[in-house]
Amino acid sequence: MNKTIPNFTLHISENSIEELFQYYFPHEILGYCSKCPNFGAFWSCPPHDFDIVEYLNQYKFVNIIGIKLSLNKNLDSSESIVDYHAQKKCFNQRLLSIEADFPYSEILISGHCWQCRSCARDRGNPCNFPDKKRHSLESLGIKISEIIKDKFNDSLQWKKGEMPEYLYIVQAILSDKRINQVELSRKLIEVFGRIGY
Ligand code: SF4
Repeated sequence: MNKTIPNFTLHISENSIEELFQYYFPHEILGYCSKCPNFGAFWSCPPHDFDIVEYLNQYKFVNIIGIKLSLNKNLDSSESIVDYHAQKKCFNQRLLSIEADFPYSEILISGHCWQCRSCARDRGNPCNFPDKKRHSLESLGIKISEIIKDKFNDSLQWKKGEMPEYLYIVQAILSDKRINQVELSRKLIEVFGRIGY
């Protein structure tokens, strides 16, 4: 499903967990994570204290949600990045707000957990809110760029000097049962449609 809303296009792709594993490249993706300055600083991110394959296999389906965000041309590069991260947090909060509407499901956010001002892991402490902590597809070793190419017929863009025209926010809903696609798109448009410039 593709739906264009003021400053973004929403893509949804329903897949089985077996299909998701076609994009599981743990050594490559978790290798990138190990070079991140935040590596080991968030409980939502690698290195994990659980088995990723076992975790994903608790579910049978995954709905991958791609938000293609048009960047605000009135902002300079650094303002754009700040705005992108603010919007990402907003989309994550909105997705979490509808998780309970889908029984036996768990959302995967874009980026790292945002629940605390600074993550307890950075101070060597256990997670403050394990019930609110959510992972991302990347943090589980999933190659997002290939998903965007295959499922959304598009490509990821990054900042290379100039800001690109758009950036992606990629989230997901893992579920034990199939999620009605009409209901999912209706709920996403309802909660995401209020986010905009
Ligand atoms: S809930 Fe807080 S302590 Fe737990 S992963 Fe998120 S930011 Fe870190």
